Amino acid sequence: MIIHMAKDATPEQENALLKRVEARGFEYQIIHGSTGIDVIGVLGDLSGVEESYFAECDGVDKVIRISKPYKMVSREFAHDSKTLVKGTKVVKVGETVIGGRELTIMAGPCSLESSEQVMSIAEYVAGMGVPIMRGGAYKPRTSPYSFQGMGLRGLELLAQVREHYGLKIVTEATGLHRHMCEDGNLERNNVLENVISYADIIQVGARNMKSYGFLQELGILTKQSKTPILLKRGDSSTLKDFLLAAEYIVANGNPNVMLCLRGIRTFEDDRFQRFTPDIGAIAVLKQESNLPVIFDPSHSTGYRSRVRAASLAAVAAGADGLLIETHNNPAEAMCDGEQCVTHDELARIKAQAEKIRSLVYDE
Ligand code: PEP
Ligand code: MN
Repeated sequence: MIIHMAKDATPEQENALLKRVEARGFEYQIIHGSTGIDVIGVLGDLSGVEESYFAECDGVDKVIRISKPYKMVSREFAHDSKTLVKGTKVVKVGETVIGGRELTIMAGPCSLESSEQVMSIAEYVAGMGVPIMRGGAYKPRTSPYSFQGMGLRGLELLAQVREHYGLKIVTEATGLHRHMCEDGNLERNNVLENVISYADIIQVGARNMKSYGFLQELGILTKQSKTPILLKRGDSSTLKDFLLAAEYIVANGNPNVMLCLRGIRTFEDDRFQRFTPDIGAIAVLKQESNLPVIFDPSHSTGYRSRVRAASLAAVAAGADGLLIETHNNPAEAMCDGEQCVTHDELARIKAQAEKIRSLVYDE
């Protein structure tokens, strides 16, 4: 249930209302809107509570029941017109506003491999005017024998990238991760804590979308910093499950979540498409939720020759941003080389996608 306080509501009236919420054993979150009016999200099973229970309190303007299973990420929870751009709650990363008029491109390698590779890609990406660089330091791989990432050393390289090129950083957090050191020992990393202390945007990968304890921990540990989270859709998760996973993070204290579509598993075999790009889901998420929607054309297609088509289709369908894998030498990439576009192709995608964004947005 969403309670909008009246313009002239006093703090005493709001406190009395909160007591009434607590008296029934519900949790709540207060959103202090930039319009100066507070909105209170009441959380829990409210099926046995009438709207009038709250509406009759002094200082309440209106009460809206959200019947969807996801509450705070739902479109109805459009609490503050100043932070909503056409119904989407924008997420700010430095100067970059995600979910507003401008399309946001995040680009970089699948995996961080070496100082030379990271710096060389960063130089191109920054030179192209891309504001955010991606790159995994901890790679949750399907095979235990595949390269597992550079670990903490990778995060340190990303910090250098931020310093030298002014790029913001998106990188994936996982749970515990054992990282192979040069001396052959497996170093124990608390990846979530490491990533929180380095990243500007924390990526939750498709494999962890349903790790509910992890999502909870992430929401709680970023409650103060409100570091933006890029939540990827599980490859076999429904959109309802996806939105509920986002709700986990928001309900635990961090409202700055972005939804990232990265393709789903269908009967298609991966000779043609690694996953199936879920373009139709973009419109669904824009209609159902108030969160920015990012599209990942790299994992969706699996092949660099198909990345541009999927990117342009996604932007035409309303995606607010693209997460694209690029590499200085795709043929030599240690992870996902076949789907990494060259830097020239990235520039082409960016130019074309930006044109489509203005067409769609200004219509
Ligand atoms: C990635 O972005 O490199 C990645 C591992 O993505 P996903 O979680 O979507 O497979
Ligand atoms: Mn990848």
